[in-house]
Amino acid sequence: MPLVDRMRPFTSTIFAEMSALAVAHDAINLGQGFPDTDGPASMLAAAVDAINGGDNQYPPGIGVPSLRHAVAEHERDFYGFDLAPDTQVLVTVGATEAISGALLGLVEPGREVVMIEPYYDSYAACVALAGGVRRTVPLVPDGDGFVLDRDALADAFGPNTAAVLVNSPHNPTGTVLSDDDLAEIARLTVEHDVVAITDEVYEHLLFDGREQHPLALLPGMTERTLRISSAAKTFSCTGWKVGWITGPAELVAAARAAKQFLSYVGSGPFQPAVAHALRTEMGWAAQNAAELQRKRTVLAEALASVGFEVHRSEAGYFVCADPRPLGYADGDQFCRELPARVGVAAVPVSAFVDDKESWRHLVRFAFCKRDDVIADAAARLRRL
Ligand SMILES: *Cc1c(COP(=O)(O)O)cnc(C)c1O
Repeated sequence: MPLVDRMRPFTSTIFAEMSALAVAHDAINLGQGFPDTDGPASMLAAAVDAINGGDNQYPPGIGVPSLRHAVAEHERDFYGFDLAPDTQVLVTVGATEAISGALLGLVEPGREVVMIEPYYDSYAACVALAGGVRRTVPLVPDGDGFVLDRDALADAFGPNTAAVLVNSPHNPTGTVLSDDDLAEIARLTVEHDVVAITDEVYEHLLFDGREQHPLALLPGMTERTLRISSAAKTFSCTGWKVGWITGPAELVAAARAAKQFLSYVGSGPFQPAVAHALRTEMGWAAQNAAELQRKRTVLAEALASVGFEVHRSEAGYFVCADPRPLGYADGDQFCRELPARVGVAAVPVSAFVDDKESWRHLVRFAFCKRDDVIADAAARLRRL
């Protein structure tokens, strides 16, 4: 096989496998997390205007000024950060490139990156691309939710740690890390004098009155944290691939050094449209979060009524459920059979972990779908 060793564990993604099964069985795909309705109309119109207005060549390497300024204003208005738009904001090709740029720019080969398990699939692949080593810290059940395993967290930090990569709100569990867990991460990050990279793409999709508390706001963290977000989830435009990194100028510059040789730039006409949305459509985003909260409840109740043990989803696009009460001990096998059995696709949480045994039972369902689609999926799941 010609593929380099460090990429061998990453040849296929679970989404491709489950989406293929969904197509083969004409199943409703609750596997992959993308919305099936559009973002705010004025944002779509702004993109059309940008294309018709000639914004079709390479944008500046760090992103168009209107978007960098809009991001800086957003960071100030929501969290009180004071950022220079020319040196402390970097526009990227989605949060995905922000993550890869940050890791490639900040992690020397052989150094370790601490991350929460389960982890977003690109984290492991990007750490491997950087020649780094991942150190996972599991979430553990706490009532119907999850908290960090504090002992494992402390053990994961050491002399070889380069960075900690924190995803909250968390995909796939929908956990919003508690202030206590965030404080403990901050304490260890400062103590070991390492960098934090935070993936906060679900920052505007919190439920039940919860609020986003960026790790970068904790004592000692502002000067060592790169904060990543994206228009994809906030404005339901996952295909636009407009993301950003904010933080101290020297850390942003490190991510930028790698980023400029990944894509160089991207999403030219979408950047001014996202700037427009950040400035004028945060009300839409709040409304969208309220609708997702309702959809979360509908799907969670449907799963519970069928007999799943359902975990609490506090934010984002996903709810995790345990099919063991239905007689399935293995989530992977369950997901492979589900499209043919009832016409619904989901993904096993074991796809996002190293410790397969501990997570074998859990299955992730997406609820970022139209009401009729969720109702149809719920009706199909009742056949179980
Ligand atoms: C969707 C998602 C991303 C990717 O965001 P893009 O802007 O589409 O690249 C990154 N991290 C997490 C946790 C996500 O769920």
